[in-house]
Amino acid sequence: MLAALVTALTVAVLPLHGKTVAIDPGHNGANWSHPAAINRLVSAGTFQKACDTTGTATNSGYSEAAYTLDVATRLAADLRALGARVVLTRATNTGVGPCINERAAIGNRAHADAAISIHADGGPASGRGFHVIYAPPIPHLTAPTAAASARLARIVRNDFRAGTNEPVANYVGHGGLNVRSDLGGLNLSTVPKVLIETGNMRNATDAALLSSRSYRAREARALAIGLKNYLLTTVHKGQ
Ligand SMILES: [Zn+2]
Repeated sequence: MLAALVTALTVAVLPLHGKTVAIDPGHNGANWSHPAAINRLVSAGTFQKACDTTGTATNSGYSEAAYTLDVATRLAADLRALGARVVLTRATNTGVGPCINERAAIGNRAHADAAISIHADGGPASGRGFHVIYAPPIPHLTAPTAAASARLARIVRNDFRAGTNEPVANYVGHGGLNVRSDLGGLNLSTVPKVLIETGNMRNATDAALLSSRSYRAREARALAIGLKNYLLTTVHKGQ
């Protein structure tokens, strides 16, 4: 009885108790060998788009799909340690998909307080840095959550930069932020959501960092801090 009470009290004081976060590791390990499945068109909100893509890789062959799952798994553990409930769009790197519309639906069905897609970019070799993408207000789609997503993007940008020392991208976006209306996983989200391109896998400096286990742990901690700071200052869902 007393033990149960202590357990309940311990859970209740964790900062993210009662909060739900959806984490979406981009791509999947078997996408490349299932082109028909991932190329089929699905709704991206205002238009049709391929179910999913293979993603990129470093020049030495470390795939984006493996990378994103590793960071997502670390982030999930960090958030659970803070008391959050976490849902992942995939838990292994041996499958296909899910499609972008389903990736959004998983966060929607979970009534997530915040959702984040994790990617690494395949940009020009000379380009370095990270950027956070969010959708503009789109009528009947992102309009109710666009302001919250923009706020989430700014907080994640600030805390990721502070926690990793990774510079903001010098080849895309502005100040580490980029607004895009062509990403189904963002367009179809009914909860505040961002997508982070944590670095450029085609850049030698970024590739070395992204290939480092200890750096990935650092990235996950920085993302957890950003999500926590967002969630603890959210007053109402959809605000
Ligand atoms: Zn990607």
